Formats: sequence, C-alpha cells, structure tokens
Amino acid sequence: MITADELQEKWLADRRKGIGGSDVAAVFGEKYGCPRALFLDKTGVERDYEHSEADLDIFDRGHSLEPLVAARFESETGLKVRRMPARVSKARPWMRVNVDRVIVSAENPEPGFEGPGYLECKTASREVFWDMRSTGMPEHYILQIQHGLAVTGWRWGAFAVLEPYTFGFLHFKVKRDERLIAVIERVEEEFWKRVKAGDIPAKLEDFNDARCQKCGYRLSCRNAEALPKEKKRKRVYEPDYSPELDIVVGNIKMLDASIEEAEAQKKIERQKAVILMGDREAVLVPTQGKKLLNSARSGKLTWDSKALDAEQPQLAAKYKRRGEAYSVLMMYDAAETDE
Ligand code: SF4
Repeated sequence: MITADELQEKWLADRRKGIGGSDVAAVFGEKYGCPRALFLDKTGVERDYEHSEADLDIFDRGHSLEPLVAARFESETGLKVRRMPARVSKARPWMRVNVDRVIVSAENPEPGFEGPGYLECKTASREVFWDMRSTGMPEHYILQIQHGLAVTGWRWGAFAVLEPYTFGFLHFKVKRDERLIAVIERVEEEFWKRVKAGDIPAKLEDFNDARCQKCGYRLSCRNAEALPKEKKRKRVYEPDYSPELDIVVGNIKMLDASIEEAEAQKKIERQKAVILMGDREAVLVPTQGKKLLNSARSGKLTWDSKALDAEQPQLAAKYKRRGEAYSVLMMYDAAETDE
C-alpha cells in the first residue's frame, strides 16, 4: 500500500516532469509567479521556507471544495461534468494539465463550444471574487485555461469560481485562442529548455516585490533578513447590531472590568502579606488553609530569537516550529487603531 509520503513524493516527481496549468503564471512572471522560483521547483531544489499555515489552509480549502464547485457549475449551467486523469501533450510531452473536470459535450452547443470542455474549479476570497465580478477573469487564469486547451486540444473551457463565505458563484466560458496558445507554447518551450540546461532565470528586479516575501526560496535566493516585513492585511470590521452579540460583548466588558479591579486589589493584598511576613520565608495560615512562601527566583531562560534570525538565519529557519493553530478573540475599543 502506498503511504502519504510516497504519494507526496510521486506528486512532486510528476510535477517535475513538465509544466502544468498552475505553473503558467510563473513562466510568464504573472501575478504571484516568479520564473526563478519555478525553475528551482522544477529542478528539485528544496524550499528553505515552508508555506504558512494560512497558505496551506487556502490550498486545502480549494481542494476540499472542488466537488462542490463542480456541482454548482452543473446546476448553474445545466452542463454535465466528469472526472478525468491528468493529460500530457502529445506534441510537447513536457506540457501537462490536471483537468479538474471535463465538461461533457452539450447536445446543441453554441458555435465555438462544441465537443468536450475543460473545467477549472477555483475558490476565491471575497476581495478577489468581487474584483473578478467587476473586471472579469484575471490574466493568469486566462493563461492557465489556454494552457489546458493547448494540452487537451479541446475547443473551449470554463472557469467556475466559488466565494466560500457568501457562496457567491461565477463562471466564465472561454474559447480556444490559437494565437495566445502559440505564444504560450513558445514561452513554455523556452522555459523548459532552460530547466533542462540548468540555466537559472534572473532574480526579480524589485527587492520589495511581494512575491519574494512569500517565496519558498527567499532565504537562499535573497537574504531573507534584508527583506522588509510583510505588509499587514487591512482588516475590515463588519458592523453587527444583533442584540445577542450586544449582550455577550456587554458581559465580557463587565467581567473584564471586575477582573481588572480584582487583580489590582489582589496585588495590594499580596504586598500587605509580604510586609506581614517580615523576614520569614515560609508561613502557614491554618485559618485559611494556605501556606505562604516568599522566595527569590532567578530570571526565566529565554532565546533571543531576533538575534538568532539576524546572525544565523539558516539555523533559525531550520529549527523554527509553529505550534498548532488556534483562534483567539481579542476585544479593543472601537476607536483604537488596528495595530
Ligand atoms: S526570492 Fe524572489 S526572485 Fe528569488 S525565487 Fe523567490 S520570488 Fe523569485
């Protein structure tokens, strides 16, 4: 029986056999992609920075919701879809595509949409979804779908996009574009020749490029320490006037106030106890069933992780461990800035 690790290894080995649909943006240096990072990936160089938990959650979300996106596409369009194994181009074996679903030929298709279609299933954040709704498919999606059409030889395809929070849904039907496919094939071929020849593409020019800040090779490719910190995401606080949340937050405020008062009072009583103990290190208070110990402690041993990051970045990256994710509810005054 094949293990998860072996499966992962196999997937990585397959990925390195050629250029897939999700690689095209990187070949062209579009959106999040960098040709140099893709080259390192294709030549089997190990990443020196792992994906963040948040990024892994997004990959997982896309994978888990794929059947739902495909089903929604069927119900919105009346078209039928089926699963299909990965395809490899006959003319260019290094061009491959994982077909999310094949769209079964319709009975009376519109001109240009005859035969099977290639369906790409996506999930998108609210911002990206609304952006797509007003401006249409982004360039890297267009490149991805034309790459899929180049490999399969089909005449059309579609993108189905789900916004998981509101369940908003969009789909775009796309015809095969021979001129764009010719460009994609040429540029991918040049890139693949470089991979085979070990000719590594140049680094991105702008040192502050957001792609470098999220890149899995940022430590070895660029001195990660010299990079500015990632920009914080601007949060949007959605007003909620529900009486239920009003009562709960009111209760938290009340409890916070009494905890603060109790903590302040406790501090005063502890100081009084220390004074009453005088020179004595240990005292028993039988009436309260408590023992008091007033002893000196040495300071807690901690790591200076900033200095370690600055002086030994490779070592720091190797031994950094992220604990299991958990959620924390913070409460601030509404007028406070969000930093
Ligand atoms: S660190 Fe920047 S230039 Fe280097 S591979 Fe990554 S994205 Fe490309």
